[in-house]
Amino acid sequence: MILLDGYKVANERNLELKKKIDEHKKIGDRIPELAIILIGNNPASISYVTGKGKACELVGIKHTLHRLDETISQKEVEKLIFDLNENPEVDGILLQLPIPKHLDDSYLIDLISKDKDADGFHVINQGYLYQKKKTIYPATPKGIMTLLKTYDIQIAGANAVVIGRSNIVGFPVARLLMDAGATITVCHRQTKDLASHTLQADIIIASAGQPELLTKDMVKQGAVVVDVGVNRVNGKLVGDVHFDGVKEVAGYLSPVPRGVGPMTINGLLENTYELYLDHLGK
Ligand code: NAD
Repeated sequence: MILLDGYKVANERNLELKKKIDEHKKIGDRIPELAIILIGNNPASISYVTGKGKACELVGIKHTLHRLDETISQKEVEKLIFDLNENPEVDGILLQLPIPKHLDDSYLIDLISKDKDADGFHVINQGYLYQKKKTIYPATPKGIMTLLKTYDIQIAGANAVVIGRSNIVGFPVARLLMDAGATITVCHRQTKDLASHTLQADIIIASAGQPELLTKDMVKQGAVVVDVGVNRVNGKLVGDVHFDGVKEVAGYLSPVPRGVGPMTINGLLENTYELYLDHLGK
């Protein structure tokens, strides 16, 4: 089994990005900037935002954290988003999910300018993606595709099974795999007999958010398995794949942690840089 080492690939790509940003600094361009909005005190969200901030520092992207109280009103968040949309120094805006239930996440995401949509969640950018037009891709699907490409995984002609159909992972990654030539099956909560699908798969993307859902008996010999899941079980991070079992049959397997997570952050940084280049007109 070959490990799909997202940590290593992301670090290499982040270094490349740092070199590009250093070049901009040398010629006097302004520094790229990502605004991060964090609402409330969800410990997982705080940890994700901290990780994203550190990664920004590493590559030379300025990041500003807008920490808002759990009880903030929808109007106040809207006002912040409008201000950030108008601010010429800000290239990317990220609203860390989940947000408190009294706020409308889908509405707020679509208020972010599509030209500052660092996460690639805006309805217009998703529309462009589904029409195969150039756009900002959601960071996790982008990171997964980059990981597969880096390991020269044959996608054209492959049978790919995506477990999960969310707007931020399952559905867009299925679309990108299809565009790259794979035949796609998207499984979800209502899917009957998940194993009957996964056993046919050359590529499996496990993004259900269910600890160790995919077991050895559900995987074809030599299959490529990407584990997107991040689940906390008894204080430990666990993926959607039973790693120790599946590693005996898979040809390639991504670990949790150090697999898709760092690739997602790299996707976010690369998106911010792309938006920055657009804003500079380069
Ligand atoms: P979600 O809850 O929005 O979607 C989960 C999807 O999985 C749904 O479509 C649901 O129908 C499907 N599903 C649930 N249980 C299933 C089952 N038993 N069989 C088949 N399908 C099932 O979640 P999401 O936002 O798409 O995230 C999925 C997982 O990926 C979560 O664990 C999340 O934490 C993780 N995630 C990781 C990263 C990363 O950077 N590593 C980024 C985003 C999400």
